[in-house]
Amino acid sequence: MDPVTIAILFVFGLAVGSFINVVALRYRGDHFSFSPKVIGGRSHCPHCGRTLRWFELVPLASFIVQGGRCRRCRARIGWQYPLVELLSGAIFAAVPYVIAAHAVGGAPGVAAAAPALAALWVIAFELLLLIAYIDLRLQIVPDELTALLGAAAVFAAVFTAGASFGANQSSLGALAAPFGLQGNIWINRLAAAAIGAGFFALLIAVTRGRGMGWGDVKLAAPLGFLFGWPDIVFLFAAAFVAGALVGIWLLLRTKKTMKSAIPFVPFLALGAGFMFFFGASAIGAYLHIIGV
Ligand SMILES: [Zn+2]
Repeated sequence: MDPVTIAILFVFGLAVGSFINVVALRYRGDHFSFSPKVIGGRSHCPHCGRTLRWFELVPLASFIVQGGRCRRCRARIGWQYPLVELLSGAIFAAVPYVIAAHAVGGAPGVAAAAPALAALWVIAFELLLLIAYIDLRLQIVPDELTALLGAAAVFAAVFTAGASFGANQSSLGALAAPFGLQGNIWINRLAAAAIGAGFFALLIAVTRGRGMGWGDVKLAAPLGFLFGWPDIVFLFAAAFVAGALVGIWLLLRTKKTMKSAIPFVPFLALGAGFMFFFGASAIGAYLHIIGV
């Protein structure tokens, strides 16, 4: 991919990130995420209530030019606005870049499927960003967003199947062979979805619902379908390591007890990013170190 395409994708991603901010911050759980009641109407300063002009809504640039403050009341604008925009821009630029890099020198079918796969994986990561943000704010995982992620996962499997990536159905390639279930992509994806949701349902049963919520169980199924077996296991492992580190930090720093629920989707999204960008190399290095 050439730098101009990457830059255009990045800017487009910033704009989508600004839309994600709007949906995540206005969502209250009583309406469909994309209903006019959630996304309709002009944006206001949450402090002074003033309607924002168009030049105050330019992703990233407005925040930098205004020094992170409202132009009228000088109240601080939350750091989450530019952060979500940047993350979204990074998704739009980096996900197609990685998929295009894989397609170079691959089978003809892989190159033909690359644009569709890039679009579907961008949609999947943008949905994860949105769901993670809503989970962080309200500890709700909207069912309609989980369903959309499921649709993206099914279409991604359709294009992956058509591209004939080789004998293994996992992005880990030959590393996945010892884990089995690599013969047929649909068996692989269905098994990963069932194992993913089953694992979280078991966690709820064991912890009597204090750690995870049913939203996490429902989200684990499309996430499993998207990543397949055994990738989903490593995704969960990465998510739990990140969750444990943040959990310990919160215990030490604040008065939170182990009973306080920690929104888990942000960690699943982190695990998904880790698997997509570094999975094969990190797990290859790990298996090498332990001598497998
Ligand atoms: Zn203001």
